[in-house]
Amino acid sequence: MALRVEHDIFLVRQRGREVAAAVGLEHQDQVRLATALSEVARDLLRTSGGADVTFHLVDDADVDRRQLRVDLAPVTPLPDGRYEPESAAVARLVDKLGVVTGKGDTVVMMSRRVPVAAPTLTPERLAEIRTELARSAPGSAVDELAAQNQQLIAALDEVRSQRDELAVLNDELQETNRGVMALYNQLTEELEETNRGVVALYAELDEKSAQLRAASESKSRFLANVSHELRAPVTAIMGLGRLLADSASDPLTAEQARQVGLIRSSAADLLALVNELLDLAKAESGRIEPDWTEVDLRPVFGQLRGTLRALATRPDVELVVEEPPTPATLRTDEVLLGQVLRNLLHNGLKFTERGEVRLRAGRQGDRWLLSISDTGPGIAEELHERIFEEFYQVPGATRVGGTGLGLPYARRLVTLLGGTLELASEPGGGSTFTITLPVGGA
Ligand code: ADP
Repeated sequence: MALRVEHDIFLVRQRGREVAAAVGLEHQDQVRLATALSEVARDLLRTSGGADVTFHLVDDADVDRRQLRVDLAPVTPLPDGRYEPESAAVARLVDKLGVVTGKGDTVVMMSRRVPVAAPTLTPERLAEIRTELARSAPGSAVDELAAQNQQLIAALDEVRSQRDELAVLNDELQETNRGVMALYNQLTEELEETNRGVVALYAELDEKSAQLRAASESKSRFLANVSHELRAPVTAIMGLGRLLADSASDPLTAEQARQVGLIRSSAADLLALVNELLDLAKAESGRIEPDWTEVDLRPVFGQLRGTLRALATRPDVELVVEEPPTPATLRTDEVLLGQVLRNLLHNGLKFTERGEVRLRAGRQGDRWLLSISDTGPGIAEELHERIFEEFYQVPGATRVGGTGLGLPYARRLVTLLGGTLELASEPGGGSTFTITLPVGGA
């Protein structure tokens, strides 16, 4: 098409729309292309006195898509060989708009992609389009103006309906927002309520534990005071009993000697109890400071083997103290550890009537596991923690003497040494007390 006079702009626009429709561009895109075309045509008419317009259907290998391309070859060269549309918005109406230079000619080119859904164009169909276009007489400027107006009205309608839709969406959004805010407020309130509850609960808990601490402290203080006060008179009773039974004193009748013997053994039991109470009270009040040194378990075990043999008096019970694996060292308090082991081994020997009591040591990573196991009566699961309470003794168990203070004291000491004391046992299956101690001390 030749673009030479103002009237041609309308014709170029109209043709552009017809060609776009014929190759399958959607309605909106037809209008876009036609509008861009008429804008560029107007520019070129002004700057170059006109142009020759050709329509091409090309296959773009880059995007694997067909394109409708329009070339506008200016009649006289473009100023500086450059072209800028007067309105920048024009470039946005098409996919590409620019200047191409080939064989010395500079051509303004624009293109728009043909949708995938558009029917394929066979060569026959193309020929058909060509003849149709050639036949259809270009309409008048007034016709094209009317068509343009129609398109404008349609575009305005669309804008309006989009605006209405937007308003509806906005309303919905506001409604949703209100809902979300209400929900949020409710949740916040609930959270505050819960928080208040939790805070109150914690305050109560703090108060309770403070009370508990105070009670436990006064108990320890009481135990310490009482046992300290008891020790002197009991020691006096023992001394006097010894004097009475002394061969240098006046001889006693057989009955008197028996009674003095009872007094002395009762006093000895009482002193043992008082001493244990004092130990426990001291441990509980934190007045025992471990004396940390590098301790070799082998001599400790050796000593236990020797001293406890005297307590293993039952012929059917064997005391086995295994040799610990080497190197058998750890950082701990030798005296306190010895006390705990002696205490647990003593219990084993006390409660076991047949079988064995065994002490064994094993290294596990950076900890030592010392276990004292026996083939005694065992302890029911529900009492596993209770026996660590002061004065608790398993009811109905063979009465073998004792105070019920040994285990709580042992656990206290192990805790002081940075370890734990646990029990695994079931009735009839013997008991195993396991001490876990860190190799490097607490
Ligand atoms: P005591 O031995 O002076 O009674 P403990 O605190 O050492 O006090 O032990 C508490 C109770 O736990 C014992 O009275 C006994 O009922 C039970 N017990 C402790 N060691 C064993 C054991 N090796 N086998 C069975 N029962 C045990």
